[in-house]
Amino acid sequence: MASDVLKLTAQIVISHASMSELTSPELVEEIKEVYNVLASLEGEGVVPETMAPQQGEEAGVVKKPSIPLKDIVTYKHVVCLECGKKMRTLKAHIRKAHHLMPKEYFKRFDLDPKKYPLVCREYSEQRSAMAKNRRFGERGTHHKATS
Ligand SMILES: [Zn+2]
Repeated sequence: MASDVLKLTAQIVISHASMSELTSPELVEEIKEVYNVLASLEGEGVVPETMAPQQGEEAGVVKKPSIPLKDIVTYKHVVCLECGKKMRTLKAHIRKAHHLMPKEYFKRFDLDPKKYPLVCREYSEQRSAMAKNRRFGERGTHHKATS
């Protein structure tokens, strides 16, 4: 890449030098100047083109999940969008492994917590079954089931 700039610099300086009488120090200065201009132009030409899409994503903060959203919540497990691990509940995992609170996790991937819960269906069914059993057990008391 630098050699292209160098070649171009030489061509420009030679064609310029052939038209005007430059002393050696002037020639060196001109080479430096032309080279710097070309190098900076090339830098500007390359960097924004490849950086632009990434910058756009960063600005939105939302990360694009690599796993199709329809696959992340199943009966037996939920998939962590951060690392792709499958588990019954992600609550503890995202906190320990990725230092994310559930709220941050949903925000990070722009998820709807109602559509994509952090626990698999089997787990939440077991939880609600347990809650029901507890309510049965507490029948006769005035306590409301809290869990
Ligand atoms: Zn994970």
